[in-house]
Amino acid sequence: MCGIFAYFGPKDNALEIVIKGLKKLEYRGYDSWGVALKVANDFVIHKELGKIGDFSFADIAKITQSGAVQSKINTSKFSDRFKISIGHSRWATHGGVTEYNAHPQWSHDQEIVLCHNGIFENYLEIKKKLIDKGYTFRSETDTEVLAHLIADYLKNFDFETATKKALAEMTGRYAVIVLFKNEDKIIAARRGSPLIVGKGGVSNEYFIASDIPAFVEYTNKVQYLDDNQMVIIDQFGARFEDMITKLPIEKRVVEIIWRYEEADKGDFPHFMIKEIMEQKETLYRAINQNENILSQVAEAIKKARGAFFVGCGTAGKVCMTAEYIFSKIAKRHINVLFGSEFKFHEHFLTDQSLLLAISQSGETADTLEAIEIIQKKGGKVVSIVNNEASTMARISDMMIPIKAGPEKAVASTKATTSQIAICILLAYALINRLHDGKQILIETASQINDMLNPRYEEHIQQVAEFLKNFESLYIIGRGLNYPMALEGAIKLQEVTYIHAQGFAGGELKHGPIALISKNTPCIVLVANDESKNEILSNAIEVKARGGYIIGISPENAEVFDYWIKVPDNSNTSPIINIIPIQILAYQLALLRQNNPDMPRNLAKSVTVK
Ligand code: GLU
Repeated sequence: MCGIFAYFGPKDNALEIVIKGLKKLEYRGYDSWGVALKVANDFVIHKELGKIGDFSFADIAKITQSGAVQSKINTSKFSDRFKISIGHSRWATHGGVTEYNAHPQWSHDQEIVLCHNGIFENYLEIKKKLIDKGYTFRSETDTEVLAHLIADYLKNFDFETATKKALAEMTGRYAVIVLFKNEDKIIAARRGSPLIVGKGGVSNEYFIASDIPAFVEYTNKVQYLDDNQMVIIDQFGARFEDMITKLPIEKRVVEIIWRYEEADKGDFPHFMIKEIMEQKETLYRAINQNENILSQVAEAIKKARGAFFVGCGTAGKVCMTAEYIFSKIAKRHINVLFGSEFKFHEHFLTDQSLLLAISQSGETADTLEAIEIIQKKGGKVVSIVNNEASTMARISDMMIPIKAGPEKAVASTKATTSQIAICILLAYALINRLHDGKQILIETASQINDMLNPRYEEHIQQVAEFLKNFESLYIIGRGLNYPMALEGAIKLQEVTYIHAQGFAGGELKHGPIALISKNTPCIVLVANDESKNEILSNAIEVKARGGYIIGISPENAEVFDYWIKVPDNSNTSPIINIIPIQILAYQLALLRQNNPDMPRNLAKSVTVK
């Protein structure tokens, strides 16, 4: 998790560029942040608790014009050729949210200064060794260990060798950016967490970041680091190296076509509502797929001895939805697992197994681990991702892009519905009726276009007002809409902090119905299919115990206390029915004075295990 960013180049406003870049990466982590600017043979370091979004650029002057910086700038050794700055927006894994634990971290006299995304699994063991050697630690992070370890190697080796030796000792998943006070050089390395180099417009200008939005304003020329690779940037340019074979690597420069505005809020107050509204178009984009690839993937599913749909969080719920979709449309069984649970099933895998990895970012650590496992067994991987340049996309045998455009709000909305659309297309492709699948989805996209209007939002706003002070809320669904009851609960939990829980309608009577008392809100997801009568009976059971029933349904029913009308399209009802809950979650977040884009304790792409 977290965002890291570095600038190397001639621009005097390096620090401003880094802070701006970190603001763009804030969706990745936002409990605290910090920056370091290299000035002469020293660093100016600034850290703050909270969100970098709250930091005003006027305050940069306070950092750079401090007496400390001025005196350093006047030293004779100051190199005015290169400005070097690094930064980090943290999502704490080891150690609380404190200024000491915020990054950059450094070795005792700030010889080495670094930022880290990920987890060093063996940090305690190495920390102990370093303490025995006399090193003292200021933070509780796993990260600080690397700073001291490099400093220790620096006693006998140059900066590059010391960094390589130290990294060779660390286990876990990471992306790091390291600076040494005596050299105008950045060393960055990745194993498991994303890291991308942007090649600037002027000569010898480089950006290094966890994700492209951080620097897309300055360049569209990128070089992707793969696992176990490092880049060394200095006055001679950027050198890439394989950390295992120690051999240099030639890196292709890729020109990306992301538009800067796509990563911006535009006229909307929050990314979440902007992305919900974008579903008017994103579905059309998702449907517009290369038919050959869809047919090849469908063929691979047919041939596989075990097709596993794997995802985490919301993508995990999309995988569950896929199970129902494949059963209903293609009459075919698929396996569904959360990324973090995949390894417990590895004994069922062979070289005939197929993994379909669903992820918005394409960087989800748990799903990447599942891919690693199946690839070791010789099985094949298809990724269904939004970020086409992500690790998942690059290491898969086949990739289906969902084409939703950048999704910045932590709570996924447009990526979710596009992922479901792809699963529907695949199910139709499996029975050689891809064209029918497309038609149904085009119809759904146009129904959603009609549905998403200000009046609809106002109608949901009324029920949001009613719900705003409740601390518990339940959602029920059956069949295709059971996974959406679970997804609706995640959406509400993420941004409203209400205890929301989803259930299969038929499961209520086996326990959860005991939770229902007078006025307990219960959202009922209804589709015009074989599940309709039974889910309405479940709603009646809840109402009989005092529950307040909010029906999300194509038709009104007597049992509903409040009805939110949705278009009628039974095979695509998971896409249709989740949208009012997304809107409700957004509105409740605002009414409860939460920031819907950056919910507490969460980050957008979960690149730690
Ligand atoms: N493990 C490091 C820490 O807790 C880095 C966390 C991150 O990726 O933000 O500070």
